[in-house]
Amino acid sequence: MVSLTVYDGAMGIGGNKLYLEEGGKGVFLDFGKNFGKYGVFYEEFLKNRDVRGIHDLMYLNLLPKLNIYRPDLIPSDLFMSQYPALNVSAVLLSHAHMDHCGNIGMLREDIPIVASPESIVIMKGLQDSGVSSIETDTAYFSPRQPTDDLGLYLSSIAGASYQGRDFCCTEEPSEALTSFLSRKPGQDGKRAKKLDPGTCCCYDDAAFPFDISAHPVDHSIFGATAYILRGETTIAYTGDFRLHGKNGDATRDFVSKAKDASVLITEGTRAGPSEEEKTTERSVCDACRRSVESSSGLVIADFSPRNFERLESFQEIAQKTGRELVAMAKDVYMLHNLQCINGSCMTDGLRIYSEVTDRSKRKWEQEVVKANYEDRYVDHKAIRDNPGNYLLCVSFFDMKHLLDLKPDGGN
Ligand SMILES: [Zn+2]
Repeated sequence: MVSLTVYDGAMGIGGNKLYLEEGGKGVFLDFGKNFGKYGVFYEEFLKNRDVRGIHDLMYLNLLPKLNIYRPDLIPSDLFMSQYPALNVSAVLLSHAHMDHCGNIGMLREDIPIVASPESIVIMKGLQDSGVSSIETDTAYFSPRQPTDDLGLYLSSIAGASYQGRDFCCTEEPSEALTSFLSRKPGQDGKRAKKLDPGTCCCYDDAAFPFDISAHPVDHSIFGATAYILRGETTIAYTGDFRLHGKNGDATRDFVSKAKDASVLITEGTRAGPSEEEKTTERSVCDACRRSVESSSGLVIADFSPRNFERLESFQEIAQKTGRELVAMAKDVYMLHNLQCINGSCMTDGLRIYSEVTDRSKRKWEQEVVKANYEDRYVDHKAIRDNPGNYLLCVSFFDMKHLLDLKPDGGN
């Protein structure tokens, strides 16, 4: 008999950790970070301590009390044998937003992640170009070991390679994807840690307790995927999905393929259709275009950095209004790697904001962005001299750069 256990994700937004089991073997449907529950204990600078591994998260009930986690994240005062050990064959990842993937990095390393090529690239790209934490260590991690006598304080092992996770890709993995997963920018440096890649196979070739099929759906992040699991019962699972983006038809296609499912498990943050729910990506794009057309100075667009569909909308707006679209280097790093695996041309015509920073420390930027797009860089002085020529895409966390740009007021 098939059984479904909701370890997390009910009565909230994201944080999904659902376990589907049949015949003593099972799969997790997402393993995300529950921002709502984290927010009860943490905020801004008050964070869980990575040096205590999963101790804090287990103690505060932010991770399910199960014996399924990486041994190197378990300090000596956490007694895992008291918790049930599930026979987890894989995690089926719906998409690469943290509320769906943000606790994957803590799972035992022999549990593979089933994900679309885009989700895999986004997770690794985010790690390559961002700050490491046990929440963002979704594609690879630095193994830890206790460095105090009591075995409570867990530090990364100096000299040990990064360990890549095993992925089961929802498409035959391309050479570009395998090669992207095989190294971390900067690893050729003399004292740099290497990346010891995990395996990346096609999910068709892997053995799961269910017959699983993956279906792309529309969402604000690329690579969103729904799954249909066929066993004794047919179950359809989707994380966030929508109909109003450019890939709405993919969602409709999934809906028709899932029509024989007996159970539908879905994220339900906003189920329309009220008047406000009728906003489409097209109508957002048109409204933004009118706003840009009526502006003479610098235009700054603030949206989630992984919302590449919105970036595409602004590419169109920039083209139609005769402005140059400027993106942050880390977004271009991601776009470059996405287009390597799916053949799109998302970096076409993009300019890159030259941040006031020590670029020697940003190996991903040096090796990929600078190496491929050096002539596209534009700095704060050039933008300040001709603000009306540019449309700058920054998200909230990049607003600090406005202090270099010093725009002349505006609205
Ligand atoms: Zn999402």
